[in-house]
Amino acid sequence: MTASRREKVEVVEVGLRDGLQMLDRLLPTKDKIAWINVEHACGVRRFEVASFVPPKLMPQMADAAEVVAAAKRLPNISVTALAPNLKGAAAAIDAAVDAIIIPISASEAHSLANVKRTTAQMIAQLAEIRRLCDERGRSVRIHVGLATAFGCTIQGEVREETVVHLAQACVDAGADRIALADTVGYANPAQVRRLFGKVRAKVGDRLHAAHFHDTRGTGLANVVAALDEGIRSFDASLGGLGGCPHAPGASGNIATEDLVFMLEAMGFDTGINLARLIDTQRRLAQWLPGQALYGKIAAAGVPKTYSTQAHAAA
Ligand code: ZN
Repeated sequence: MTASRREKVEVVEVGLRDGLQMLDRLLPTKDKIAWINVEHACGVRRFEVASFVPPKLMPQMADAAEVVAAAKRLPNISVTALAPNLKGAAAAIDAAVDAIIIPISASEAHSLANVKRTTAQMIAQLAEIRRLCDERGRSVRIHVGLATAFGCTIQGEVREETVVHLAQACVDAGADRIALADTVGYANPAQVRRLFGKVRAKVGDRLHAAHFHDTRGTGLANVVAALDEGIRSFDASLGGLGGCPHAPGASGNIATEDLVFMLEAMGFDTGINLARLIDTQRRLAQWLPGQALYGKIAAAGVPKTYSTQAHAAA
């Protein structure tokens, strides 16, 4: 099989947002930019680089506009940032992001804890952000991350019907794309298959992406389940950076390098050079000395049977 015939799967690096926001320390802006540059050179083309939130609440993200601007200078890159409200969205548009990610929790309890708004209020925010984007005449796209779609550490169970209903409400309010997010690492593959199937049946191709955490070791299994349901875009974090505020010592997002290894070994085309990505994971360990990193492939090494076919990154 030639590289061009392999089916493409998009890998989105979210470590600069989902990973760094969990840390007590600040990564200097120059190191964030170096991270994006080096990972871009591995072939990664989509990055979620920041949150547009008040620096007082999240000092790790105070340089959001600067990081977006630096990332946008790279060729063939798509730069997204999270914005939980209209003010953040306006700042993200000013910074010239390609897409805004709006986090909307399927769990009311999580929504109130995370953004101090009910889910219904967040849908109203989404509609306002849609109007803002349309008024400015910019081609900024709106992605919704449906957080805690598979369960919540505060509320417990999240009903599947709630998620399906919410997905439709997001589409009605103007979302271009929807991702289902297992924010707290509760999901299992059977649940992933079922819920992606139900949401897809309701909103069709607007359901675009999956965001899995590996808090309880089911992250990559959940990716396979979502692949079976036709999903071809996955968030991941280099070195599994992040963690879970409700489970000290637990890992964060699925590790980008493990995801790339699995997808490429399964015959998908990520366009990413695995050996270079593993080197980049080692650089990350230098930028964040003492920081726990997760994932398997960087520690175990690439198997001799791994395909050495030409990858997109030169
Ligand atoms: Zn996350």
